[in-house]
Amino acid sequence: MSSMRSFEKIKAVTFEKMLSFEKARRLVEEHAERVSPPEVETIDLLAALGRVLAEDILADRDFPPFPRATRDGYAVRSADLTKVPARLEVIAEIKAGETPEQSAVVVGHGQAASIMTGAPLPAGADAVVMVEYTSPTDHAVEVQRGVSAGENFVPRGAEALAGRLLLNSGQRLDHAGIAIAASVGKSHVKVFRKPRVAVLSTGDELVGIDATPGPVQIRNSNSYSLAAQIQNAGGEAVILPVAPDERGRLRPLIEEGLQFDLLLLAGGVSMGKYDLVEQVLAELQAEFYFTGAEIQPGRPAVFGSCAARYFFGLPGNPVSTMVTFELFARPMIEALAGMASRPLIFLRARLKSEIRTKTGLKRFLPATLSGEFENAEVELMPWQGSGDISALARANCYIVIPPERERIEVGEWVPLLLR
Ligand code: AMP
Ligand code: MG
Repeated sequence: MSSMRSFEKIKAVTFEKMLSFEKARRLVEEHAERVSPPEVETIDLLAALGRVLAEDILADRDFPPFPRATRDGYAVRSADLTKVPARLEVIAEIKAGETPEQSAVVVGHGQAASIMTGAPLPAGADAVVMVEYTSPTDHAVEVQRGVSAGENFVPRGAEALAGRLLLNSGQRLDHAGIAIAASVGKSHVKVFRKPRVAVLSTGDELVGIDATPGPVQIRNSNSYSLAAQIQNAGGEAVILPVAPDERGRLRPLIEEGLQFDLLLLAGGVSMGKYDLVEQVLAELQAEFYFTGAEIQPGRPAVFGSCAARYFFGLPGNPVSTMVTFELFARPMIEALAGMASRPLIFLRARLKSEIRTKTGLKRFLPATLSGEFENAEVELMPWQGSGDISALARANCYIVIPPERERIEVGEWVPLLLR
C-alpha cells in the first residue's frame, strides 16, 4: 500500500488532471466540435446504412405531390354531410396511381367518388369519409357519419414543400433516412469517409485470441470489443499488435497509432509501476486534457492530443474499457466521422431492487432493464467489478448513480445508459 501511495504521488505531481464526469465529457465534446470534416465519397444507397451524410437532402417536389387520401372510402363535400344519414351519388372510382386528369372527376353537390388510400383527392371534394361509415347501394352510397373539411387526406405539400431540407449533412443514415433518400430519388448519396481508429492494447499478461494462454495469461479481448464499438460509432478499427509493458516497445507502437485519425489505448493508465502509457505519451510531448474522471468504472481514463492527433487512454479492465469508450471516445469518433454533435441523454426507469453504494464517484453499473410496455424496471446486475465481462454481457444497460447517493430505494426513477 505504501508503495502504491508513492506512485500516486509521482503521478499526481506529473499529470494529475482529475475532472468530474460532466466536465470531462464536455471537454471531449468541445474538442470534438473543432475537428475538421472528413473526405467525401459517393456510395450506393443500399450500402449507406449507418453512414454519415455529407450532403443535405432536399425535397425534390412537394410531399405529398398531390392531396393524398389516407383512408379507403368516399371523397365528398363535407357540407353535404351536415345531416346524416345522407345519400350521395357515386360518380367515379379513384385508385392509387390514377391522375386527376385520367379520372377527370369533379365531385359536385350531392356526389361522391369512391377512393382508395394513396389516391389523389378529386376536385370539388374536401374530405374522405371512411368506408366503414358507408353502405353502398346502386350507383349511390349511404353515409352514416359526417366529416369535417380536411379529414382523411393530406394536402399537397403539407409534409414538405419542394426544396425543403429533409435530411442534414452530418446526419447518420438509419432506415428512415434511407427511406427519405429513396423517396427523393437518390440512388447514390454523398457520405463522409469513415475515420480510421487505431486500437492499441497494452499489458505483459495479454496473448492473442488464437493462443493457448498460460496459467496467468489473459486473452486480449479489449482490442476486439473496442473494434466492435468503433464500428458501431461509425469508424473503422485498425488493431495494432499488443504492446508489452516496456517503454521501448510501447513507444513505437504509440507512434504508429498516432498516424491514424484517432488512437485508442487500452490498459496501462492506472497507478501501477508498469502503467507506462502516460509516461511514454509525455515523452512524446503529448498534451493531457484530463488524466482521470470521477467515475466508476473507468476512473483512470485519459484524454489528450499528441502530434496533431487525439488519443484516449482507456483503463484496461474490460468493463472500464467499454464504459469509457461510450462516455468519452464515442463522441470524438462520431465527430471524426462527420456526425453532428448530440448531447448524451440518460433515460429513466423505476428501480426494482434497492441500491446501496459509496459516495464520491458517478457510477455506471451494469444492469438489467426488464418489464414490458410502459412498465420498465431496472436492477443492478450482480458482478465482480470492472473485470467481469460475463456479467456485462448479460446486462443490457447501465444504471447511472450520482456521486452523492448512498442508497436508492425501490420504485425511484433512476437514470440509465442503454447499450
Ligand atoms: P490495466 O488497466 O493495464 O491495469 O489492466 C487492468 C486489468 O484489465 C488487468 O486485470 C488486465 O489483465 C486486464 N486487461 C488489460 N488489458 C486487457 C485486454 N486487452 N483484454 C483483456 N483484459 C485486459
Ligand atoms: Mg496493464
